[in-house]
Amino acid sequence: MVRLSPFEFILFMGLILISAPGTRAWSKEGHIMTCRIAQSLLESEAAHAVENLLPDYANGDLSALCVWPDQVRHWYRYRWTSSLHFIDTPDEACTFEFSRDCHDSHGVKDMCIVGAIQNFTSQLLHYREGTSDRRHNMTEALLFLSHFLGDVHQPMHVGFTSDEGGNTVWDREIILTALKDYYDKDLELLLNDIVANFTDGIWYADVSSWKDCNNLHTCPNKYATESINIACKWGYKGVKAGETLADDYFNSRMPIVMKRIAQGGVRLAMILNRIFGDSDEGLATAT
Ligand SMILES: [Zn+2]
Repeated sequence: MVRLSPFEFILFMGLILISAPGTRAWSKEGHIMTCRIAQSLLESEAAHAVENLLPDYANGDLSALCVWPDQVRHWYRYRWTSSLHFIDTPDEACTFEFSRDCHDSHGVKDMCIVGAIQNFTSQLLHYREGTSDRRHNMTEALLFLSHFLGDVHQPMHVGFTSDEGGNTVWDREIILTALKDYYDKDLELLLNDIVANFTDGIWYADVSSWKDCNNLHTCPNKYATESINIACKWGYKGVKAGETLADDYFNSRMPIVMKRIAQGGVRLAMILNRIFGDSDEGLATAT
């Protein structure tokens, strides 16, 4: 394995064709922050439902289990979920098309992040029908939905088919280096900065547009499209295979990673508020 030092990121663009387990996982920190943001924005019905669905050992903290889908993806029982963590789009296409791109490596349809978000959203909508409906495991559906809202906002999770290496940088190195260099490794401080940026700062005016969603079923397509656009504009651009990435790659991409974490959190809250809210909105717009 290549050890990436903080300022010498190396992207193996198109070189590593064999997928190494675990290379595609928004770091634990990315998922924790996405879910912390989301839970803080829940209205009372959704907050109550989430608390209700979490196992006791989570102590009411959704973020404690948001990384769970990454932990179980290689277990026999959950192996079917491993292709749900990403979307492969054609190299250089820089677009996402559900019918073309949302499938697993065997071509099974709907097996990608967007399909997973749709599926678990639909399952959670049954929550309102009461606990007698045991067809779905609502706790797992909540954890999967929360996790995949994070993944769909990680630009490189909607990447080129032949890329594997770029993910490591965007999944882990950017966040971990930011934590180390600017926040004394304190996730709380980094999270505070991200939250301040959308409650009162540079993204404040954009938040209502992040939440725009006429149809819970199709909105995830928009999030995936944003991700592949960012991957093309900022992830792959100007980078050659095996090149050592300098400080300016890191510095210019860090704010994008932070913004995607914020968007993932805000949108997860929007979705959960509509799924569990007492209006008919969630139901009406999910079909
Ligand atoms: Zn994942």
